[in-house]
Order: sequence, then structure tokens, then C-alpha cells
Amino acid sequence: MTALTFTVSTSVGTGRLPPGATTAGAGPITLPHTAGHGPCMIRATREVQMSEGIPTSGSYARSTGTVRALTLMIDFSDAPGEGEALDRFREFFPQTRQWFRTSSYGRLDYRPETPIPTWLRMPKSFREYGIERGAPFDPGYRTLVQDIVEAADPDVDFRAYDILNVLVTPNAGPSALDTVLSVTFAGNPEAPSGDGIPVANASFVYSRQDDGSGSYDRTGYRVLPHENGHVFGLPDLYTAEGGGAVGHWDIMSEDWGANNDFLGWHKWKLGWLDAEQVHCVPAPGTTEYALTPLARAGGTKLVVVPLDSRTGYAAELRTRAGNDESVCRPGVLIYKVDAEVDTGMGPVRVQDARRDSGGCTRAPNVHAELSDAPFRPGETFRDTRRGIEIEVVGADPAGNFLVRVKRD
Ligand SMILES: [Zn+2]
Repeated sequence: MTALTFTVSTSVGTGRLPPGATTAGAGPITLPHTAGHGPCMIRATREVQMSEGIPTSGSYARSTGTVRALTLMIDFSDAPGEGEALDRFREFFPQTRQWFRTSSYGRLDYRPETPIPTWLRMPKSFREYGIERGAPFDPGYRTLVQDIVEAADPDVDFRAYDILNVLVTPNAGPSALDTVLSVTFAGNPEAPSGDGIPVANASFVYSRQDDGSGSYDRTGYRVLPHENGHVFGLPDLYTAEGGGAVGHWDIMSEDWGANNDFLGWHKWKLGWLDAEQVHCVPAPGTTEYALTPLARAGGTKLVVVPLDSRTGYAAELRTRAGNDESVCRPGVLIYKVDAEVDTGMGPVRVQDARRDSGGCTRAPNVHAELSDAPFRPGETFRDTRRGIEIEVVGADPAGNFLVRVKRD
């Protein structure tokens, strides 16, 4: 079971576009903010492959409005597709489309399209591409993307799509229980071109994330919203130690097991929160905010307490609703965001209200220790060194939580 916590995918982003360049579907979203949000728009001061900084670099796919996902099912001579290619498609849709609709409060209209509804046969055998976990874009994936473009080109106008999903026949490569191959190459303007457009944002899904618990039909699709999170510029939140930094509080941390949502920070970063739903607290003093549940549309979603130009604390209210189906101790989740820590190295760290408690869930593939991390009424998060307190003052009958922030 330990292997299961080392979930999914490396992600390899490659730098930034030169000024003025564009790729299909790429381009900075308009991040809702005011001048008052400035101190909370933390940025990396050095080169970071994939950063939690705000706003996201414009080389990734746009994460609001209509996003067209070219979705191709591929197979190989040494791993011929079994059954209908559209059955493979139906392992991920319409669930992935609905997941994004729910998480984004309807702001991301994700449209998967299958102009080629059959298995697309690659010219080389799976073995010849040399695909393994952690394989870089060059040479194996470059060759594979080139071959995909060439094979699909007669039936596909690549200019019509924002992102590419490649659903590989599940009999190619190892079981996901042994090695998770699924991977995304994001923000990559050097990728091979189709119809003159670099295929810059592509997610590959291999095998099946089936832990044998009988939940595959409900939860097996979740690797795809995770991989697509990368094409929208989000880093991996699990680390070499597994899900111990963020637990089950974001699908970029854990995408096996029960459904979960994005952090409020990610929703702001993706352009899914209005400016008035995010409060920035840069100055000394005491202020209060009524947080509404993150899963519910409308109201205050996020309070950010910046520490410096690259780090800050964020607070949000998590309940069992929407995409969050395993929450066992609803309350105010508090976490530290560091824009200068790279993907997979722990750019977000949840602050545990009940350290070493063992947690409140035994759900499979849910990091237990952090499952009871949220702060409940009467509990206070303190960073005494930085002179910051976030106190949960109470809850109202509508289910909103009042938090009081004190800064020295
Ligand atoms: Zn990932």
C-alpha cells in the first residue's frame, strides 16, 4: 500500500515563451485582483520549473472559459487496444468534465473531443519508445508526440484545441500499482507542431489507478484532472515522502481514492475566484472574516497572510461537499505556500491542528494524519516567530466559519 501513496506522475515544464509568442490555447488568464491583493501575489525570485506563484506564467493552458481537449486513444503493435477505444474514453468522461465544472463553480467549461473515436495505432512498438517513469521529453516523448501528430493529422485540426489528452491503451506498460507512468508535459513551446501549433500542453494517462477496493468506476478517472492540473500550471504537491505535506486536501497531492478538490489557493491561481472572495492581510492589526465553505459558490473563500514577497499562509473552510467526499473533520484548513519551492519538493505545507493524532479517516489512499488538520471553533493557529495568529472564533447556522487574524 505504501507504493500507492507515491502517486502519479512527474511533470516536466520547460521554461517560458519568449515575449510575444503564443501557442494554441495558451495565454495568461485575467487573474481577478485589486491593488490590495498585491502583497499576496507571491512570486519566485529565481527560476522555478513549476511555481505556486501568482499569476501563472502565460505559457500554460488557459484555465477559464471554454477549453477544448483533443482526446486521443492510442495503442501499439505490442500492446493492441482491447475492446472499443471509446470505452477507454468513458473511464474518464464525463467525470473529468464534471469535476472541473464543480471545482471551478462553472468557470471552466471543459470540452473533451474525440475526432478519432477508434484506437490510433502508433508506428513503433511501445517498447521502442522507451517510455518509463520519469522519462524526459527527449527523445522518447518527442518521438511519440511527433508520431501522434502525424497519425492524427489527416483527421484533426490541431489549431482547434487548447490541450491534448493521450489515453494510452491500459495494457501498455506496467500496472499503476507498480509504477505510475502518467505524466504531463506543460508549457513546452519546443514541442512538435501540429498544423503550425506546438503541442505544448499534453497529458498522458497509462494503465488504471485501480487499488482493488472496488471504487475504480467512481474514482479511477481522477488521474486525468491531476494531469490536467499541470497543463494549467499547477505543481505536484506530493513529495518523495508521499502525501505528508498536503494530504488529501488537493488532487495535485493525492489522486487515488476518494474524490477531493483543489485548494482555494489553486482556485484563485486558476482564475475561479472573484477579487472580493480573496482577502489579503499584509498589515499589523486584528481583522475578522466569515469564510464560506470552499465547495459552495459565492462568499469569502480565501484569506491570505503574506510573510514576504514569495511566501504566505492561506486559510479556507473545507467541508464534505462538492468534490470533497472524504472530509471527516470540517473546519479551517491553514497552509503555507512558498512560490520558490519547486514541484514535488513541497511548495505547500498544511498546518496540522492535531499533530500526531493519526487522523480521522481510514479511507484507502487518503493520507490519514492530515485528515483532521482543519482548525475548529476555539482553536488557534500560531506562528509566534512571525507574530501571526489565525483564530477560529465560531460557526454560524449557515455553516460559515468566522476567523480572526492578528498580526503584530
Ligand atoms: Zn503530477
